[in-house]
Amino acid sequence: MHPDAVSTISAESSASSFSSVPSFSCVAGTPGNDAPPLLELCGVTRSYRTGGWFAPRQQRQVLRGVDLTVREGGCTGVVGPSGAGKSTLCRIALGLEQPDGGMVRFMGRDVRHGLGKDRRHIQVVFQNSVNAVNPRLTVERIIGEPLENFTTLNRRQRRSRAGELLEQVHLSPSLLDRLPHRLSGGQLQRVCIARALAPRPRLILLDEALSSLDMLVQARVLDLLTELRRATGVAYLFVTHDVRLVPLFCDEAAVLTEGRVAPVDMHAPGHPCARQQAAHQATPHQEAFNALRAAILPAMPVGTPG
Ligand code: ADP
Repeated sequence: MHPDAVSTISAESSASSFSSVPSFSCVAGTPGNDAPPLLELCGVTRSYRTGGWFAPRQQRQVLRGVDLTVREGGCTGVVGPSGAGKSTLCRIALGLEQPDGGMVRFMGRDVRHGLGKDRRHIQVVFQNSVNAVNPRLTVERIIGEPLENFTTLNRRQRRSRAGELLEQVHLSPSLLDRLPHRLSGGQLQRVCIARALAPRPRLILLDEALSSLDMLVQARVLDLLTELRRATGVAYLFVTHDVRLVPLFCDEAAVLTEGRVAPVDMHAPGHPCARQQAAHQATPHQEAFNALRAAILPAMPVGTPG
């Protein structure tokens, strides 16, 4: 985890601060980060037709030549205000939607027309875990779904693997037979993370995955995601409107505003993240973050991960 403090700058103010940053080259990255690219978006454009019976028909340009790279085992943050096109970007990266123009490459292959056999290697965790699962399925079946789709494990082996995955996200395998409504929001988000990890993907898209969680649970889930990245080598595309989380979690970051992305140097003077750092000059960032967590964690009963 990056040694940075928690910022208090709103997404809107950050977006306007970033809008003057010059355009992004296709392999923008942290200097020194030379891991090969895993996901590359080059000049991606996307527009939607709006209007209809009572409003004039027009074309709304949502993405205007987006360049973005996620490296093997890396974590790239995309921060932008609501409506900036973040979810559109995710759908295109997942191959659920075609771009109008530009190039999308995953594991070196052009995937504009679908991921094919590489589908298992890119998984997603959404913001709203309640809507992301079938309420009638037990935890075992929720986590077992990708195992059924992407592996040759039989039912008994899938149950055993689902139990292991629960342990990996620090939940008890005794939850395997529970239905989603009998889990807390944080537990259900961990189940969604376990489901995403199930087919051993190379990349997980985190589409506002922490946004519906309170600050305490966010801190715990951020720690968990960092630990899983170290243990499995999985890369993340971390999409959020919350600029505070980006320097805590990402190696490199870009801001998406008005359909364009611009790289962000999280440690450059004048950047919102760096201004926050200045505000915490008395203590290094990690210490500030640890202090914050130390203040709030004791409020949580031991043995109940959020
Ligand atoms: P974000 O995730 O940053 O909030 P979205 O990608 O969801 O932004 O949406 C960006 C813009 O594109 C919004 O104005 C939204 O209304 C519009 N949009 C997204 N999907 C569609 C669609 N299928 N049809 C028409 N407009 C859409």
